[in-house]
Amino acid sequence: MRTCSICSHQQRPEIDRALLEGIPLRDIAERWGVSKTAAHRHKGHVAGVLRAQQALTVERLLSDLADLQQRALRLLTKAERTDDLRGALAATREARETVMAIAKIIETSELEGRITKLEEIIEQRRAHEQGKD
Ligand SMILES: [Zn+2]
Repeated sequence: MRTCSICSHQQRPEIDRALLEGIPLRDIAERWGVSKTAAHRHKGHVAGVLRAQQALTVERLLSDLADLQQRALRLLTKAERTDDLRGALAATREARETVMAIAKIIETSELEGRITKLEEIIEQRRAHEQGKD
């Protein structure tokens, strides 16, 4: 596999932005003096960066939720110790909510991972059929 001429391009941030904005490959090729094929191939690399950023966001969300869950469980313990039934019930609800939210995020990101893999396979086949520049 060849290295990507746009990944190491000096104006890569501008090209990435143009690709994300959906500016036609022909215009991008003209403006930055790259080939249309290179621009098309590099589009997949932009998606990779986006995915990495999304993965980071998911990690942060999960970490925040885990923190909230710990707090809810501490409140539950406190409420139980003081026979605060209403407080215990509320804390149980909060803890359950965080568990549900965590499960939902994990489920969604697994689905996205599967879709991403499919997209990569499709992209590889397309690139194979088109040949390389
Ligand atoms: Zn690239």
